[in-house]
Amino acid sequence: MPAFASRLFAAESAAKEKLGWALVGLGRLSTNQLAPALQKTKHAKLVAVVTGTPEKEKLWAEKHSIPQSHIYNYEAFDKIAENDDIDVINIVLPNGMHHEFTVRAAKAGKHVFCEKPMAVSSQECREMIDTCRQADRKLGIGYRCQFEPHHLECIRLANEKAFGPLRQIDAGFGIRIEDFPQDDPKHWRLEKKLAGGGALMDVGIHALNACRYLTGEEPKTIVAQEVKTNPEKFAEVDETIVWTMTFPSGTVATCSTTYNYNGVNKFTVYADRGTFGLEPAYSYSGIRGTVEGKPIEKPDIDQFAAEIDDFALCIKEDRPTKAPGEEGLKDLIALEAVYESIRSGRTVEVKRDA
Ligand code: NAD
Repeated sequence: MPAFASRLFAAESAAKEKLGWALVGLGRLSTNQLAPALQKTKHAKLVAVVTGTPEKEKLWAEKHSIPQSHIYNYEAFDKIAENDDIDVINIVLPNGMHHEFTVRAAKAGKHVFCEKPMAVSSQECREMIDTCRQADRKLGIGYRCQFEPHHLECIRLANEKAFGPLRQIDAGFGIRIEDFPQDDPKHWRLEKKLAGGGALMDVGIHALNACRYLTGEEPKTIVAQEVKTNPEKFAEVDETIVWTMTFPSGTVATCSTTYNYNGVNKFTVYADRGTFGLEPAYSYSGIRGTVEGKPIEKPDIDQFAAEIDDFALCIKEDRPTKAPGEEGLKDLIALEAVYESIRSGRTVEVKRDA
């Protein structure tokens, strides 16, 4: 986009009280979390949807007062460029589709807010970043926990070294995939092409991301082991992974993720002179935490409304988001090192070119 057009766009966006938000992919997250969050946001509102399911068009049009002119299917997606009501396109599709639709959205002149994991490879992440940069559009990744008050308190304690240097972090997030209502042998989360990976890409990424934002560092080495109790079901993607990361300042993180059972949903930070952490840590609500055994008293917020409002404000005020494409890329580089360690059976030195 030429610079003058970009400036014009920024000025128009800043003038809008609420930026126009489009949801692409109307599955569980869009239906149960993002659309309700967009009813609470101060700086964004739902104005359009993209779906491949004709029955959902009427449903969403009625429930969210979306005119037919603002409902797109995947084939007609690029026509979104002509719709000035849409400022941000939120990609809520299977992971393997994030790259294609982020690139198409940026080329349509829209800012992009893409769900985690950002993509299924670091190469895809780099291309998404480059395309958004060339189009002069912002790219944000849906790291809701980075906006959650209990997490922010732990980040503050870690960054300020309130208890001295961080020695060890234990972090893990697992879910039982049978708990998904659409669970069937063909579910996209079990297909490598659409999911990229299994539990690690889907939920383990939250634990990995936490280790990165608590230390403020990138992992130096990673060693991992995978366990499959159901090799048939998890033929294409990982079921359970445990991994260890070392960080440049000496912190060691021991992590786990699984699709096999609910329960592990935590991080504990062991610093020189004290311990703090969250459990549950990554749920949509009800986050609990302690510092040296005492509860962390913070409000229970809508994490999705918070991340959306923050990204909208970054656009309106033309400032960087704290969870940009580069943040998604750094996680993908670490995730790839976990998979590389499982493949090779060795400790992997993480390439830090992000
Ligand atoms: P979902 O299966 O409920 O929804 C996916 C949507 O994509 C569906 O509406 C489906 O119709 C559509 N779709 C389009 N093309 C498809 C294809 N070829 N195969 C399958 N579905 C196709 O999934 P979800 O739980 O809503 O997850 C969507 C994205 O959001 C994923 O990237 C996931 O990682 C992410 N997510 C993030 C969080 C979070 O905490 N930030 C939570 C849940 C999901």
